[in-house]
Amino acid sequence: MNFHLQCIECKAEYPPSHIIYTCPKCGDLLDVVYDYSELMNIDLVKLWSKRTFNVWRYRELLPVLSRDPVTLNEGGTGLHYCRRLGELLNHPEVCVKNEGENPTGSFKDRGMTVGVTRAKELGSKVVICASTGNTSASLAAYAAKAGLHCIVLVPSGKVALGKLAQAIIHGAHVILVKGNFDYALRVVRKLSSIYPLYLLNSVNPYRLEGQRTIAYEVYEQLGREVPDVVVVPVGNAGNISAIWKGFKELKLLGLTDRTPRMIGVQAEGAAPLARTLRENSDELLRVPNPETVATAIRIGAPVNWKKALRAVRESRGTIITVSDDEILKAQRLLASTEGLFVEPASAASIAGLAKATSQGLVDRGEVVVCVATGHGLKDPEIVLKMTPKFVELQNAEEIDDFVRALLGNSYLSKTSTPTALGLQTAAEHSIPSSS
Ligand SMILES: *Cc1c(COP(=O)(O)O)cnc(C)c1O
Ligand SMILES: [Zn+2]
Repeated sequence: MNFHLQCIECKAEYPPSHIIYTCPKCGDLLDVVYDYSELMNIDLVKLWSKRTFNVWRYRELLPVLSRDPVTLNEGGTGLHYCRRLGELLNHPEVCVKNEGENPTGSFKDRGMTVGVTRAKELGSKVVICASTGNTSASLAAYAAKAGLHCIVLVPSGKVALGKLAQAIIHGAHVILVKGNFDYALRVVRKLSSIYPLYLLNSVNPYRLEGQRTIAYEVYEQLGREVPDVVVVPVGNAGNISAIWKGFKELKLLGLTDRTPRMIGVQAEGAAPLARTLRENSDELLRVPNPETVATAIRIGAPVNWKKALRAVRESRGTIITVSDDEILKAQRLLASTEGLFVEPASAASIAGLAKATSQGLVDRGEVVVCVATGHGLKDPEIVLKMTPKFVELQNAEEIDDFVRALLGNSYLSKTSTPTALGLQTAAEHSIPSSS
């Protein structure tokens, strides 16, 4: 499909051959604009249904020229119907879009496959980003696949261990920055304006285009229906904007006549957008020193704030805040009721739904999709930090006692002793040392 760039404020237009990230005239954000008329006579759903369930299933709607994208088979993540969680939240129709199922474990891969493909098309040799962790993990992987050099700037001491390991193993040049994400982003924006470094933060309009596929997938997974509400954790605020754009397009293309309400969720200690919306401010009300356990959304000056506020207002949604305590409880609840282990930022969507329901922002029986943005294994430390003491048992009798207590004695006959169960003692079981 034909596309070009357009400024969201002054509406100036630029051809796709220009390497720009913001409007050269007024400095505001750019959007990718398509000529949808080309698609009006095509049965898109039928076309999609013949293809693999991943991001490139929707290739007519992606802004690339080449037929050979840089891909790791991203997208096609599960939409999990969460009956047990729904009952606990007094809100039965909850689905979780589990973006941890992506190749590097977060939704960022949907954007990077498009963004890095564009980097190659535009002739870039080096890609760069600032990151709270997942962007660097994802960019490092796609740069490796594409054979490009990759530089990532991350806030020192504030990146989850798994994410840092990913960036390192994929061969990125990892630079630790004394300062927070907002500072790191300012630095890479400056660098990419001086040197030929292709910037792949979400200020890059092409990256966001890949993330619209979350909306297309949810539509197909719900049997060509649109949910009533979509709940999304908000950091730099690109994803909520992208998902909203995706749903609007489904309507524009005549595939549905409805759109969902978008509810963004921020952590209390990093909630610039929630406040900007509440106070109806025309300027972004920044948070100078954002703080939260959910490091992926520890952002005080979201670059896509304007797009996100428009998404929330147009969709008649809102932005709410949750505490770190609520986030960690929601993380545990989702893992222990549904078998889905997500990172703290992702659990903000579950905590957010609980809060939105209690505030009457979501009605019982409405179909809600919570976007779980990244995998829990990226940040194992936070779980272990929160775990009370392990049960450590020395021998088979103790283990037997523990199991009996757990099951309740009524389940067991009095004769089942450790010997009857055929258990060895710990000593018998241990492997003799070779020395
Ligand atoms: C990047 C990220 C977010 C925030 O997304 P934005 O588009 O920056 O709002 C939330 N959760 C996880 C796990 C992320 O990696
Ligand atoms: Zn402009």
